[in-house]
Amino acid sequence: MSRGLIVAIDGPSGVGKGTIARRVAARLGYRHVDTGAMYRAVAWAAANAGIPLDAEPRVAQLAAAATIHVSDDLVEINGHDVTGAIRTPDIDRGASAVARLPAVRAILVERQRALGAGGAIVMEGRDIGTVVFPAADVKVYLDAAPEERARRRAADPAHAGHATRLLLAEVAAELDARDRADTTRQSSPLMPAADAHVIDTTGLSIDEVTKTVLQIAGSRQ
Ligand code: C5P
Repeated sequence: MSRGLIVAIDGPSGVGKGTIARRVAARLGYRHVDTGAMYRAVAWAAANAGIPLDAEPRVAQLAAAATIHVSDDLVEINGHDVTGAIRTPDIDRGASAVARLPAVRAILVERQRALGAGGAIVMEGRDIGTVVFPAADVKVYLDAAPEERARRRAADPAHAGHATRLLLAEVAAELDARDRADTTRQSSPLMPAADAHVIDTTGLSIDEVTKTVLQIAGSRQ
């Protein structure tokens, strides 16, 4: 009996990583970990403590000392339930800001490696196949046309909790800014691993993408 695979799912904002990763994990009976929620929680806690998001040593110190819990239904940092509070435009930008800081990444990457060490895990993020688990059994990079990603993000109920409902054009502009920040940063920029299966999900249904990822995973079991 194998220990269970490490499945890495990376890709840009609004591509549907969360939905696909959750479904794949449910089908395989694996744990699902959303690493973006960890960066979001750290950004929330830093803002809550009045720490500027570019103050690398202070944000890193906060991240190192924090108790962070991430599951499908609940995200907590230092006992605060931030499940809804981290899905706002402010925290979209804040997470991207703290994610640029190498000292913060080092701390969260170490925690992510510990979570996945035993296998049987579907971990989603930006650098899972490139940095967190470069030897992952399955590496998938999901992509989609920017307009399609803006539509998906605008329709995502998890991001609809904040009072101002953003216009599609605003969502598209926010995603574009975040993509640019995530792909051009020095530390672990967003890019497909050389050995990742790149799937263009534009025009594909959630079921179709889930099936493709499960097929790839099936061939590695
Ligand atoms: O996936 P999500 O949109 O929740 O991620 C929020 C931000 O966290 C991203 O824009 C990115 O800057 C950062 N992130 C990262 N590495 C990861 C996951 C998220 O840099 N593995």
